Amino acid sequence: MIDLTLNNGVTLPALGLGVFQSSPDETAAAVETALQVGYRHIDTAAAYGNERQVGDGIRRSDVDRDDVFIETKVWVTDYGYDKTLHAFEKSTRKLGIDTLDLLILHQPVPTRFDTTIAAYKALETLLADGKVRAIGVSNFMPHHLDRLLQETDIVPAVNQIELHPYFAQPEVQEANAAHGILTQAWSPIGGITFYPGWGDQRRSVMDDATIAEIAARHRKSPAQVMLRWGLQHGRSVIPKSINPTRIAENCDVFDFDLSSGEVARIDGLDTGVRSGPDPDKPREELFAREIPEA
Ligand code: NDP
Repeated sequence: MIDLTLNNGVTLPALGLGVFQSSPDETAAAVETALQVGYRHIDTAAAYGNERQVGDGIRRSDVDRDDVFIETKVWVTDYGYDKTLHAFEKSTRKLGIDTLDLLILHQPVPTRFDTTIAAYKALETLLADGKVRAIGVSNFMPHHLDRLLQETDIVPAVNQIELHPYFAQPEVQEANAAHGILTQAWSPIGGITFYPGWGDQRRSVMDDATIAEIAARHRKSPAQVMLRWGLQHGRSVIPKSINPTRIAENCDVFDFDLSSGEVARIDGLDTGVRSGPDPDKPREELFAREIPEA
């Protein structure tokens, strides 16, 4: 396992388990399995509706809570200074813990950026009060970061963004790096390129011929190659799986190295076209979702 040091000195295990679209029924078992096979970092969100089961999975495992890096996200309906302070209470009660390792804003709200700023100021308070060990953002483009940095005091530790070989957002990565913000990749094995039921012509990065060729050379799977690529670039990666074999497979990425030429070939697959939502085009129907009390 590789640890990364955040801009406030806190360390974060580079590889974590994602639980977006893990149903509540599946989540506790996935978390328990992940901790058993060596993961020490879980990425959830208030909006995923499974924080309670993430907490259950941690308690069911033999791993101490203090040895697990727990990351969650505030949903946009909880933005605003007091609402965001309360969102922390909701999340920690559901998780069954007192403090969080990392709390991030799930996405900017471009049409009401003042509430995004107020939410971030609440994160700063939670950090100052020792209730969270680090704070950050997700889906922030460079212009969102610029505005945030102008109006707040603490540079985010992390910016979690869509990032896989078909959409690597180099300009966002550069902006993050320039500010000392760690880039964390969501959909690091391209899940967003093959979520079932989307009914469109999206091309799955999992079927990419270049990645398949590199994977065969290392006797690894395409998923393992994509994760290794992210790690060798110094990023945090948070692959999601509810399948015990794939959970273990995704963690088995520390015994091989991609050559610089292989890394460059994967870099060259970037299409510049996002598969996920555009952070500048808010989907008001999603933004209306309320997060239940604990
Ligand atoms: P991933 O890139 O992690 O891909 C997940 C998909 O890949 C699932 O369908 C999973 O199915 C499948 N899978 C997992 N491992 C393998 C494997 N080894 N071989 C083949 N298929 C595999 O996509 P996600 O979008 O889930 O992103 C990961 C995490 O990032 C999320 O869970 C969430 O924590 C975070 N995220 C954050 C967002 C944000 O806005 N901040 C947006 C989206 C995600 P199965 O479970 O059946 O194995």
